[in-house]
Amino acid sequence: MTNFQAKQIRELRMRGVGYRAIASVVGLSRDIVRNYCKTHDLDGLATDVRINIKEKMEKGEACLSCGRDLKQPATGRKRKFCSDTCRREWWLHHSDSIKRKETAYYELTCTYCGKEFKVYGNKNRKYCSHSCYVHDRFWRKEEGRAPYIGPSMIKEACYE
Ligand SMILES: [Zn+2]
Ligand SMILES: [Zn+2]
Repeated sequence: MTNFQAKQIRELRMRGVGYRAIASVVGLSRDIVRNYCKTHDLDGLATDVRINIKEKMEKGEACLSCGRDLKQPATGRKRKFCSDTCRREWWLHHSDSIKRKETAYYELTCTYCGKEFKVYGNKNRKYCSHSCYVHDRFWRKEEGRAPYIGPSMIKEACYE
């Protein structure tokens, strides 16, 4: 069990969340959670509230880190954490999932020069560089190639 998991167990338990719900949030078995609470004077505190905290977290109704209720703003991005501290702490202890995200690179072939290039997150990119984009788009006549009949403007805008 990591310090972070221990802290999460403590915080959720103090709010009255049941062992099973805590277990599903921190990713440990219910027995481990229960044993931890018993050995840390956390078993008597709670009134085994039957809320599925994990479901609330997924819906954005509870902080992913401490489980406190979240109020979503009327507009803009959905919040996942109640505070910057919680956000930082959660990411600090979930660096594995960050690493996994960073490998979401696409290996693409430049439409103009044929060079392979890697791009992060945007698989619609067509050119390895701005210069290739310009050549392919505007220098066709000069280079004696067929006129540009290329993709939609939306895809085109993806070069950069
Ligand atoms: Zn929080
Ligand atoms: Zn290129």
